[in-house]
Amino acid sequence: MSRSLDIRHRDRRELREGYSRGVRCFEIGSIVAYCAAMIWLLSLIIPLSTTFPWLMASAFMLGYVAADFISGMVHWLADTWGSPDLPFIGQALIRPFREHHVDQKEITRHDFIETNGNNCFVSLLPTIGGMLLPLDEPGWLFLATLFFSVSLWVLLTNQFHKWSHLDSPPRLVDWLQRMSLILPRDHHAVHHTAPYARYYCITVGWLNEPLYRVRFFQALEWLITATTGLLPREDDIGARAAEALLPEGPPPSAGIEPEL
Ligand SMILES: [Zn+2]
Ligand SMILES: [Zn+2]
Repeated sequence: MSRSLDIRHRDRRELREGYSRGVRCFEIGSIVAYCAAMIWLLSLIIPLSTTFPWLMASAFMLGYVAADFISGMVHWLADTWGSPDLPFIGQALIRPFREHHVDQKEITRHDFIETNGNNCFVSLLPTIGGMLLPLDEPGWLFLATLFFSVSLWVLLTNQFHKWSHLDSPPRLVDWLQRMSLILPRDHHAVHHTAPYARYYCITVGWLNEPLYRVRFFQALEWLITATTGLLPREDDIGARAAEALLPEGPPPSAGIEPEL
């Protein structure tokens, strides 16, 4: 079914050229701000770890799952809506996702700054949120630790994503992938099947199947299209393919093997 879609991506070279000096500066600034904010937040919560070890450990674990969900939301937003032509956000945040569908191996050639700059920017919000919490009650400490954990795992998400595209990852990475403790390669390959409309979570991927079964992103797309008239994935796969997908019903039941 998806193979017959008339998918039209943007030009690969044009997308690469969109990685401008301005975007590079934005990424470096995000990394510096993120590191400063995380050190600050860590200095606030670490002294309390001996008093509330289990509370903080559970918040830290929950943060991993929350990061997986956030990675799915951000990825879905950037894949589905908007265009690289939008001022600022288009070049800095949407373009890399368009490029990734056109050339999924390009990410393996990105250096540390290009791999992690954007995610540092996304992680700034929970980090600053954690810094502003009062921490005078266990509930606030739980939340601050959760924010710290989310920020940390969201930062590492693109590294995990990059590793999922390596043909021969380092041994430890390969083991973590096979244990499904970080994003596995074959699992993420499902997302790279046209029309790139499922398995958006790219931290560890634990939430992909549940979100797929409850048609979470399809419901959001339906709601946004019904209220705004916008066409999901129009800029990514072209108007014809995006329109062809619209009248499709809900995705096939989860027992069916995805096409690879
Ligand atoms: Zn994608
Ligand atoms: Zn990918």
